[in-house]
Amino acid sequence: MEINSLTIQSALDVLKKKECSARELVAFYLDRIEKIDGKINAFLTVDREGALQQADEADSMRANDVTKPLLGMPIACKDLFTTKGLRTTAGAKIIDNYVPPFDASVVGRLKEAGAIIIGKTNEDAWGHGSSGENSDFDVTKNPYDLTRVPGGSSSGSAAAVAAGMCLAATGTDTGSSVRLPAAFCNLVGIKPTYGRVSRYGVIAMASSFDTIGHMTKTVADCALVYETTSGKDLFDGTTPDIDVPSYAKSLGKGIAGTRVGIPKEYLSLPGMAAEVKAATQQAMKTLGLLGADIIEISLPHTEYAMACYYILVPSEVSSNLSRYDGIRYGHERSAFGAEAKRRIVLGTFALSAGYYDAYYKKAAKVRTLIKKDFDDAFGAVDVIMAPSSPALPFRIGEKSEDPLAMYLSDIFMCPVNIAGVPALNVPCGFVDGLPVGMQLIGPQFSEARLFGVASAYEAATQWHTKWPKT
Ligand code: GLN
Repeated sequence: MEINSLTIQSALDVLKKKECSARELVAFYLDRIEKIDGKINAFLTVDREGALQQADEADSMRANDVTKPLLGMPIACKDLFTTKGLRTTAGAKIIDNYVPPFDASVVGRLKEAGAIIIGKTNEDAWGHGSSGENSDFDVTKNPYDLTRVPGGSSSGSAAAVAAGMCLAATGTDTGSSVRLPAAFCNLVGIKPTYGRVSRYGVIAMASSFDTIGHMTKTVADCALVYETTSGKDLFDGTTPDIDVPSYAKSLGKGIAGTRVGIPKEYLSLPGMAAEVKAATQQAMKTLGLLGADIIEISLPHTEYAMACYYILVPSEVSSNLSRYDGIRYGHERSAFGAEAKRRIVLGTFALSAGYYDAYYKKAAKVRTLIKKDFDDAFGAVDVIMAPSSPALPFRIGEKSEDPLAMYLSDIFMCPVNIAGVPALNVPCGFVDGLPVGMQLIGPQFSEARLFGVASAYEAATQWHTKWPKT
């Protein structure tokens, strides 16, 4: 048995057949973190003692025939998720000493489902970034090429799953931060419909955009974890009371007749790398061969999406970060990093008297237009397929001095958050040993359909089986 190529599904099987215990499984991952994370920097905190204790509890539950969907599965959480008794930093020096007295709702649900929280992962501070380089701690490296970024802001979560240091990891996606690192690290990553997964206890970036997702090696794993974390939560008023279907049951049904829209504005983007475009077109062909109808669509307000995002999101960021003023908790505000300061200044400016109408209010109107683009498109197609990133994982340092170039990494992703609809990143190719991802985007609450299409594609391809040599 190759433990580091296990998925959640195969690990559950291994435990069921008693080929190893949860303690052995968890000990394997803890040892692996100790052995290889020095060169990757995926983890900020590892909870060896707590994880082994939870593993023993999982073993005794299994011995007593208790069944839980994720019983004994080692999962890591982005350091934006509050974890009871376990340090939570948001990747930021301001709160590098914060030990929360409670669990985020999602963490509670994962534990309830039997998962073992093995540690907390590195990230761009407060979720601001696309590469992991804005972490106030060390930069996380891409396990496929240690000179390149793993994508951000959930950088450590992606690197940890890709390098086989845990079986799944949580992330947050305000503008791209689950899907981009998933794309750069060859993972399946879900950005939920806004409100489908509770934000309670997840340190806020931009509250009307933040969504709580996760990354796994396969579509089936992603569907399983998503099923356990989704649904109404009394602690988050934006979670609607809509039933959570069995996402696992939506897999393997085939996609004949599914209408897949390709936004014409996306593939004609000037800065798009030719090899990424070629991989996307190949994936499109595969979906066609599987029986989908490929239909060209238009999302006409795409060109305004980044401007809209970078007015609305910093406005919300400036408000959310104002609580870290050094008076109540954490360190003094001079400890904010450059990117957090940039966003506080931008947001405060956009919200100030005299500029509010010209910037914030106008951007809020553009948000409505972008959402309408998606509503109109979903009148004609079931799913939209798009590239995830316009480029391959870039070199560490390549874009860190140029915030605008960095912001453009998210050009195909931010519109999805502006519209509040769900999307999945699915591995769809390799160029020079580096992964390429595609997005499947659907109308609100269409996650079951997205998992279905993704599983059909995954079954017809091999990309998800290529693991880095770490
Ligand atoms: N890269 C985007 C930003 O910096 C998205 C971040 C996110 O989704 N948390 O705002």
